Amino acid sequence: MDKISVAVPCYNEEPALEPFFAAVSAVAEQMPDVEFEFLFIDDGSRDRTLEKMQELARRDSRVKYISFSRNFGKEAGIYAGLENATGDYVVVMDADLQDPPALLPEMYRSIREEGYDCVGSRRVTRKGEPPIRSFFARLFYKLINKMSDAEIVDGARDFQMMSRQVVEAILSMGEYNRFSKGIFGWIGFKKKWLEYENIERVAGETKWSFWQLLLYAIEGIVAFSTTPLVISSVFGLICCALALVMILVVIVRTLVFGDPTSGWPSLVCIMLLLSGIQMLGIGILGQYLAKTYLETKKRPIYLVRQTNIEK
Ligand code: UDP
Ligand code: MG
Repeated sequence: MDKISVAVPCYNEEPALEPFFAAVSAVAEQMPDVEFEFLFIDDGSRDRTLEKMQELARRDSRVKYISFSRNFGKEAGIYAGLENATGDYVVVMDADLQDPPALLPEMYRSIREEGYDCVGSRRVTRKGEPPIRSFFARLFYKLINKMSDAEIVDGARDFQMMSRQVVEAILSMGEYNRFSKGIFGWIGFKKKWLEYENIERVAGETKWSFWQLLLYAIEGIVAFSTTPLVISSVFGLICCALALVMILVVIVRTLVFGDPTSGWPSLVCIMLLLSGIQMLGIGILGQYLAKTYLETKKRPIYLVRQTNIEK
């Protein structure tokens, strides 16, 4: 009998856990030929999420939980879920029911019978989202796909079912700065996309502010593309070329017309522009250096405080 592990990263999801578990259990019941395992990852929640998980675990022996020592972020939660899942197939789901459990049977069928390694989901609408956020999200996907060799699909959710082979592939990418959308795209494999309309979360609220999303986007670009470094080098080259031309112009002009002291305002403008470009270049370099620095520390991706998984 096949086993499916459902990995659920949770951060302050106390009100959502009960309806989530009820909904997924109901779908599990429609799949009698599959064994299920539920892996809840408590990502340092500040509410009673962990207690809720423990209660579910008491009620149902298929429920496992891992509680982090602090909030490590969703990416760490996904990693912990994949690392501890024992199923032949693993599916990552949000706790807020924005990932429709009704898709599970179809995902399973596609992997089993249609020969896919992985079935992902993408929302084709962004209903219920502020328009400005949608605009920047679209811009981000356009940019990163131009810059990176990992295919990053607009609207792709982390909600996907993976074969064991794909899970191992993802786990083999042990980087500390985990940008899942990039990792999922980078590994390749045969992937099928299921599409659905955006669903608003069942309870609680989103953990993402606009600022956090922006930082996340920059992180994604730094993690999966070195194009910004190339751009800043090209900028540097252009500036050097311009400067050479200007030097020649100034020398010739001085020889021909003498040297009246003029042009200070334009000089100041040029200095400001160039130092701005320099700072930008150093900043971009710094981003990569910072990431490299963090990677070289080889810190664990997450730390466990409490779990009911026996090893
Ligand atoms: N999440 C997490 N750690 C975090 C933030 C979020 O484990 O630091 C979980 C959260 O509990 C939810 C999922 O990641 O199950 C998606 O979060 P959210 O619904 O806030 O994001 P959105 O759906 O708005 O993109
Ligand atoms: Mg959500």
